[in-house]
Amino acid sequence: MRRLPSVLIVEDEPAIAELISVNLRHSGFRPIWAMDSATAQAELDAVLPDVILLDWMLPGESGLTLAKRWRSHSRTKVIPIIMLTARADELDRVAGLDAGADDYIAKPFSTKELLARIRAVLRRRAPEQDVAVVTLGQLSLDAATYRVTFAGLPVKLGPTEFKLLHYLMTHAERVHSRSQLLDQVWGDHVFIEERTVDVHVKRLREAMGVQAAAMIETVRGAGYRLTVQGQCSGPVAA
Ligand code: CA
Repeated sequence: MRRLPSVLIVEDEPAIAELISVNLRHSGFRPIWAMDSATAQAELDAVLPDVILLDWMLPGESGLTLAKRWRSHSRTKVIPIIMLTARADELDRVAGLDAGADDYIAKPFSTKELLARIRAVLRRRAPEQDVAVVTLGQLSLDAATYRVTFAGLPVKLGPTEFKLLHYLMTHAERVHSRSQLLDQVWGDHVFIEERTVDVHVKRLREAMGVQAAAMIETVRGAGYRLTVQGQCSGPVAA
């Protein structure tokens, strides 16, 4: 089943949010509405959307403040942000783009134009909208070309490590026991010891480098989990 791209709408005016939601749904997107900054942050903490539509004028924290914050966090910085605003003058436009917005649309806007902008930012982010590519934070895996990169740099993996990483990335943020991993990655594991999983996780971590390896957590007594939270946000070590 094809996953619908999700759009987080951060907008305090219900009528506008509803209008956008209806149009998005009709166009094959999955809208999620957050009426204030706290709700928006909670949504982002739970699941990352494909695009954020961010109203400038919000009660509490402004859209500009939110855009700056989300751009500065490693977990959220790759999500395209389109700012919605009634403020159409040039200075505001520049401020919005400086805060890290990918695009900017002035109210009132046509929903047709908004949809075009959303598709454009999605295309720019993923030129080949290929489901074979899985991206988590700075880690990216392409199952079609067998390429893995971290922060844009190639990661060389053996076939088992590749399969293991692919499984963990497509089932991220969950703890998998060794026996579950044997089932999913090795298939028929009758003759394989659970310790084999540890050996391959160790190899995988070594191949990934310290910064990316921090994404694979050992959960004592339970197994392993790949998490985007575990990713160090400091500069890439040489
Ligand atoms: Ca508003």
